Amino acid sequence: MSDQLDDYFRCVENAGRWQFQVGVVTWEGPHTPEITWKNYRSWRTQPDAARLARARAAALKQARFFGTCTHCGELNNAGHLFDRDLCQGCAASTMGIVC
Ligand SMILES: [Zn+2]
Repeated sequence: MSDQLDDYFRCVENAGRWQFQVGVVTWEGPHTPEITWKNYRSWRTQPDAARLARARAAALKQARFFGTCTHCGELNNAGHLFDRDLCQGCAASTMGIVC
């Protein structure tokens, strides 16, 4: 698993609750990715590392957040998927799509 997936998870404290959020990449333009944070889990107590790890593992299985490219086998953020099972990188190299 790539370390850069860490960029898509965060835990924030908000009004006495801890919210585990997952970032979904959206595109303002062809070259300007933005991250939209979605609440995924919410707890009344500060989560420990094991709880965070479970939430993260569960989020990675959600197709609305992440998908595995069947071409290169990489797990990608949904915003980096060209199709449900093809990442943008592979789409560009196999289909000649440049944006
Ligand atoms: Zn790929």
